[in-house]
Amino acid sequence: MIQLEKISKYYPAGFGKTYVLRHIDLNIKEGEFISIMGPSGSGKSTLLHILGLLEEPSEGEYLFLDEPVQKLTEKKRTELHRHHIGFVFQAYHLIDELTVYENIETPLLYKGTSSSERKSRVAELLDRFNMVAKKDLFPHQLSGGQQQLVGVARAIVHNPKVIFADEPTGNLHSEQAIEIMELFQKLNQEDKVTIVQVTHSETNASYGNRIVRLKDGWLA
Ligand code: ADP
Ligand code: ADP
Repeated sequence: MIQLEKISKYYPAGFGKTYVLRHIDLNIKEGEFISIMGPSGSGKSTLLHILGLLEEPSEGEYLFLDEPVQKLTEKKRTELHRHHIGFVFQAYHLIDELTVYENIETPLLYKGTSSSERKSRVAELLDRFNMVAKKDLFPHQLSGGQQQLVGVARAIVHNPKVIFADEPTGNLHSEQAIEIMELFQKLNQEDKVTIVQVTHSETNASYGNRIVRLKDGWLA
């Protein structure tokens, strides 16, 4: 599903370059649950953003669902993103002015899903996540754990093949963190969603099936 070959990322620095990632070879198969770990500044977020088509690599080749990512038109890249990718962020990134219901519905609007299908899909997720009673609340009226549940619901509402999560429990208490990790585990095992998370927590990583460690931009 994901094949990286000699992927590097650098930024210009004076007359030279600062490498953030170097020669990353990585294959991720459908159905895996992978944790990217490593010290701060080791390139974890950059790697996740490249995998999730949010950033371009500087060198190397990336095949996502057998498509050579660097050769895609902007239109095709956006389409791949809208259909097959869900993102979960540490700070939730919900839209403050939209209700729980509307936040979850957003990716379906981008994808052009019909109104009846949107209704049934959002209702199904509200029910599954025990949030029916909260559907008309705004993000600031929810606890952190509840906001991240909305974040996860929004990430999977369009049935993506893969979820990329950047420190999804970084702002949560341990009980809420466990709830989110158990949810990821279910999505992975029952719904067969591939998951790639960045985490500092060995406990979080233990929910996955493989750990990828980065050090100074290299795979350790
Ligand atoms: P991590 O997620 O492991 O903390 P990041 O991927 O966020 O690491 O960052 C890796 C390194 O890349 C850091 O040293 C950071 O300062 C650098 N970096 C990230 N983005 C940029 C940028 N736009 N320009 C220059 N350096 C950057
Ligand atoms: P948990 O830790 O179980 O995720 P909290 O203890 O943070 O939840 O919150 C408990 C309850 O208080 C939740 O049902 C949530 O809806 C409500 N709540 C939290 N913050 C606010 C707020 N700012 N305004 C209204 N209700 C809130």
